[in-house]
Amino acid sequence: MSGKDTFKILDKIFKQKNKQDIKDIKGYTMKYGHIINNNEIIDEVLVSYFKAPKSYTTEDMCEINSHGGNIVVKKILELCLKNGAELAEPGEFTKRAFLNGRIDLLQAESVIDVINAKSEREMQTGIKQLEGFLSKEIGDIKQEILDVMVNIEVAIDYPEYDVDDVTNNQILNMLDSVENKLIKLEKSFDNGKIIKEGIKTAIIGRPNAGKSSLLNAILKEDRAIVTEIEGTTRDTIEEFVNINGVPLKLIDTAGIRTAKDEVEKIGIEKSREIANTSDLVIAIFDSSKELSEEDLEILKIVKNKKSIILLNKTDLQPILDENNEKFKELESKVIKISALNNTGLEELYKEISNLFNLNQINLDNDLIITNVRHKNLICKAINNIKEVRETINNKMPLDIIAIFIKNILEDLGNITGEVVDENIINEIFAKFCLGK
Ligand code: GDP
Repeated sequence: MSGKDTFKILDKIFKQKNKQDIKDIKGYTMKYGHIINNNEIIDEVLVSYFKAPKSYTTEDMCEINSHGGNIVVKKILELCLKNGAELAEPGEFTKRAFLNGRIDLLQAESVIDVINAKSEREMQTGIKQLEGFLSKEIGDIKQEILDVMVNIEVAIDYPEYDVDDVTNNQILNMLDSVENKLIKLEKSFDNGKIIKEGIKTAIIGRPNAGKSSLLNAILKEDRAIVTEIEGTTRDTIEEFVNINGVPLKLIDTAGIRTAKDEVEKIGIEKSREIANTSDLVIAIFDSSKELSEEDLEILKIVKNKKSIILLNKTDLQPILDENNEKFKELESKVIKISALNNTGLEELYKEISNLFNLNQINLDNDLIITNVRHKNLICKAINNIKEVRETINNKMPLDIIAIFIKNILEDLGNITGEVVDENIINEIFAKFCLGK
């Protein structure tokens, strides 16, 4: 529970073993006792006390630790409600932390990211945002703008001082510097998206090339953390696999793994479709056979995509190798594997890392945008910078220029939530689960 009546309500339902007055109970302590309804014991519990403002929401808070189980928890919840508590909305605790000013909107959003993180990297970026690194960067950029705004305001208020030229130069320098920083953040979104959503990867190849064997080999890796995600099209599922910090979202065509004996036939058209919606295409060929017509079609699909060629079944007598002229026409790396014996996978992962510059993402020093809302606002700010430049070029008066500069400040303020619309706030917190 959180809010000013927390301890009043708690007092009605919690019988401490060694009764202490709430005045004498320090924050960050736990008390042992029973949850009671009239005189009936509901459960033996531990209650944690948090006193305002030192709590998650900055309000008085308590947490009741019961034995769990549906009935007991439901009964305790009912008791709280009966005695004056209200059921929290999704994300309400974090929302209160935001509305009470303990964290900004950006940090609140990173709470969801941390909870939903599917990979360690994603969790780390979330934690970094929660710690306020991105907020600080945005704050610093805003300060840079505000420093110049002060001079502009002076020039507007005291037109008798002729400061116009100086201010224009100052403004332009500031715009350049701010724009550079924002562009850097905007660019980080490509990596942020990968960290958050995984590299959307399609494995294509003719029947029997070894697609399902490869998929199985990847999924079976001890280090693979697999999360099933419903696919975008009805007949595919996507699986999030995190291998050596490489987040892959594998597009799996339904039935591939379940109906192993019936060879799933995915036509060339379908393969092309899947490849088109992917960030990466892994094309797999049977190296114990000559390239077939179908293989040549597959190679055509690969041509304009970020791709990797796998020569599978290298445990058998080789017929195809990387020197085949058809492969040489492509820019893709050719890697020999045996999906059956699990060889060559390390090289595959290394190439994926290389293709997406994953090794260059430095989590300690680089700030990474992972949220589309933030990215859009940064783009808007960059556009508004261009507008300011234009007003200056058009020799607009300072007070007009000032209005356009304020637009940039507003975009940035929207990211951290200082000036954000209530509807947007509600939308953001609706994505939370209950009790967070
Ligand atoms: P898909 O139709 O592309 O999904 O191909 P499968 O993964 O079902 O593989 C077709 C056949 O090739 C199966 O009998 C596999 O056991 C076999 N196979 C797959 N990979 C290898 C490999 O690396 N070496 C050998 N010798 N056989 C393989």
